[in-house]
Order: sequence, then structure tokens, then C-alpha cells
Amino acid sequence: MLSQSAVPRANHTIRILPPSASSAYAAKHDAAIWETFCKVTGAAGLSEDALAKQVATLPGRLGGLGLRSAERSAPAAYWASWVDALSVIQTKAPDVAATVLHDLESSAGTAPCLQEANAGLELLRSQGAADLPTWAEASQGVRPPQPDEGIDAADLDRGWQCHACSTLEHFFLEQVVLPSSSSARRSLLLSQSGGPASAWLRAIPSEPAFTLSPLRLQVALRRRLRWPLPLSGGRCCRGCNKTLDLLGDRAAACPLAGRLKLRSRPLERTWARVLREAGGRVRENLWLRDAGLPGIDPGDGRRIEVVATGLPVARGMKHPRKFKKTFKSLQTFKSFFKLSWESLKVFLNLAKV
Ligand SMILES: [Zn+2]
Repeated sequence: MLSQSAVPRANHTIRILPPSASSAYAAKHDAAIWETFCKVTGAAGLSEDALAKQVATLPGRLGGLGLRSAERSAPAAYWASWVDALSVIQTKAPDVAATVLHDLESSAGTAPCLQEANAGLELLRSQGAADLPTWAEASQGVRPPQPDEGIDAADLDRGWQCHACSTLEHFFLEQVVLPSSSSARRSLLLSQSGGPASAWLRAIPSEPAFTLSPLRLQVALRRRLRWPLPLSGGRCCRGCNKTLDLLGDRAAACPLAGRLKLRSRPLERTWARVLREAGGRVRENLWLRDAGLPGIDPGDGRRIEVVATGLPVARGMKHPRKFKKTFKSLQTFKSFFKLSWESLKVFLNLAKV
């Protein structure tokens, strides 16, 4: 609710008001979001952790929680709103558009709100944005590049805001967060970055497969901020016999405790479901010796996680219409999980087993 509803509600204000007018509201909005997050996660005692707060404001694709800072986004959002609006004004009222365009492109006599739009442009350029349109190009309706993979709910992807804010977020990560971070936190940020790695933050819990238990959600959220986890202490496992640290580093990394295998199960279940919906006969955790492959020792202890047979693809497409429907379903799944087609090909090749 916080990231999908409360965070984006600031968008309207920071787009229509220049930053000088929206900053007080934006600061209160950001403080309220953080305070609420700390309360609902039972972490009121950690609310003064400034670095964790900064990480939380980063987009999920940059390793954060997507609780975006309206105050930081305001200059980009305001600039983007003018860029997006100029072509509409050009269509509806060309005379007004000509006056606005003249003011935006001249340094003298510009209205204060247009000066702030230009200040936003300068800020974006100073933080590394190299592919922004000129005001004249904006009036012609030039479109932004495709948004990054894994955009947050706060990323207004219909115009230039998502692209512009992305510049500010990358700059903030590289110039503010990373220099203040320990090597362990930097590694964690790298590990949890990327659209697919943060897809769970954007998932709507509309069915059991998209739902995390309260404890797992707590662990996943706190792990991103490098906060103590609600895990029991003691030893990790008999294999390594090392102490479990409160931050979860040992628990996440131990290759002997069986947790790595546990982490692979959701992905395996996802593929099993996709392949079942595609019409295949799916078997999970099949012994390699039972897979009908030649030359496998009867004592072989390896398993294949997912095996699908009888799909209407590979070695003949017996039901083209069914395949077409299936393909559409897979496209939908891909857009959700952002799995690569290369992975899909590997699984489809299993159908030949
Ligand atoms: Zn262990």
C-alpha cells in the first residue's frame, strides 16, 4: 500500500507545482512515508538510520524499496510535466505555446515557474542526463526512451518523468549512498539491484503465488536495508557450524544448509505452472536415472527440477491454435517475472527428453 498508493500520490503535486512551492509538502510527505514504514515493520527504533532511509528511497531496480523521495524527484517531475504539456499546448493553443517556448528559451524576463522548469533541466544535465530534449523538441511531442526494466509505481512512465527521475536516482546512488556504504552493503545493493530482483516489491498479492508470509516479508524488507533480521540465533548448520549473524549474511550464503535450494523452489514452481498451463505433462524433482536418458548409472543421485513432456512445441506443433494461446500466456508471465527467452528455450528443450 505504501509503495503502490501512498508514494505515488505525491506525483500530482510535484508535477503541477514548482519545487519552491512543493518542497514543504514533499518533505512532510517523505517523512510520513518513512515514519509509516518504520511503524508497520515494527522498526520504530531504527528510524534514525539515515543510510537505511536513503536506501529505502531508491527504486527497487537500484536495490532500494521504492519508497521514493518526492523532494528529490520534484525538480525532474516539474521539468517533465512542462515537457509533456508543451506539445498539448502547441496543439490546443499555438499562440500560448509560442509565448511559453520563447520564455523557456530566453534567459531574460522568464516567469518564475518557467525559470524553475529550466533549473530542473540544468540539474538533470549536471547529474549526467545527456539525452534530454530541447524545449523546441518538446513542443513537437518528442517521446522519451523506453523506461528501465522494473519501474516502481511512483515512476510515471507515460511521459518524461520516469526517464528524468532515473537520472537523479542513479546520481543519488552513486554519489551519496555508495560512498557512505560499507563494502558489505555495496555488495548487497549490487546483489539486490535489477528489475527481476525487485519484482516481488511490485507484485500485487492477488493470489497465494504472489503472496509472502508476514515473517518472510519482514526478512526480505529488512535484508534490503541491512537491518537485524527476526531470525533465531545459534549455529547455521552442521556442515559449516558457523554462527548465524543478525544481518543474515551467513544464512543467505551458506551453501551447506539447504537454503540455496529452498530459494530456487519459487522459480521452479513458476516454470512448472507455466509449462502445465502450456499443456505439458510436468514432473518435478525427477531422478535423472528415471528420465529415460541413455547412459545414466542406476545409482545416480542427481535430480532434474522440472521436466515437461507433451508440449505442443518442439518436435512438431500439433496444435497451432493451442500453441498461439499458450504463447500469449507465456508472454504475460514473462512480463511479470522478466525471465529471459533463453531460460524459456532451456525448458522447452527439456520437452524433448
Ligand atoms: Zn551453514
